[in-house]
Amino acid sequence: MRRDVAARAPRPPPAAEQARALRVLDLLDAALPEARIALRFGSDHELLVSVILSAQCTDARVNLVTPALFARYPEPAAYARAEPEALWPFIQSCGLYRNKARSIVAAMRAIEERHGGKVPREREALEELPGVGRKTAGVVLIHLGAGQHFPVDTHVGRVSRRLGFTRELDPGKVERRLMTLLPPERWNRGHQLLVWHGRRWCAARAPDCGGCPVAALCPRRGVERVRATAPTRGAAPSSRRRRARRPSRP
Ligand code: SF4
Repeated sequence: MRRDVAARAPRPPPAAEQARALRVLDLLDAALPEARIALRFGSDHELLVSVILSAQCTDARVNLVTPALFARYPEPAAYARAEPEALWPFIQSCGLYRNKARSIVAAMRAIEERHGGKVPREREALEELPGVGRKTAGVVLIHLGAGQHFPVDTHVGRVSRRLGFTRELDPGKVERRLMTLLPPERWNRGHQLLVWHGRRWCAARAPDCGGCPVAALCPRRGVERVRATAPTRGAAPSSRRRRARRPSRP
């Protein structure tokens, strides 16, 4: 029986791997002192709305639309009274706006009905809100100051694999690995640093390994494959791209 439990328990990473991961975070912290959430919000529910809107959209785009949205809907109760369609004109440019409007209104209704108009600070309660998955809940909890979390978005996942922290593709498994590799007090900041690193240097299609502050510690897993499939700068555009670029006739 005891043997079964031991067989299922995840193996702790070797001490050298933990030390390397800590060193990576130290170097990124020094290189990115300005790394913090780029979304602008003034209250807990504005944070939640912004994070929902940021799915498959840039933070800059979200910041463009939220001032008017927040002015029109200053409290969760205001969203709760609205029909999702009323939000469309405000958030249309963020993409997936019908789903996002539905999620925001439904989440605010749940906050009103079940949480007294306050955004819950527990993961379970947050994840029960419509439109709030594990990653969104983690990001919201970090910025509510509710404990340590390591939400895994596309940047965190990609950077973690290239750095050799994990081979997993599933965000939940990447998150668990990062949480065994790094001590809890480094999780919140670690999340932020890996997001910024993924935007600044370790971009999906063209990682800037030459300028990367952690290059000496990185095995660059999968990077050659990315480079081999990325379009060569200056290469002749494909016929489909040539057609797309051709100006339309007046
Ligand atoms: S060396 Fe390259 S692959 Fe490794 S973290 Fe830096 S930018 Fe990413």
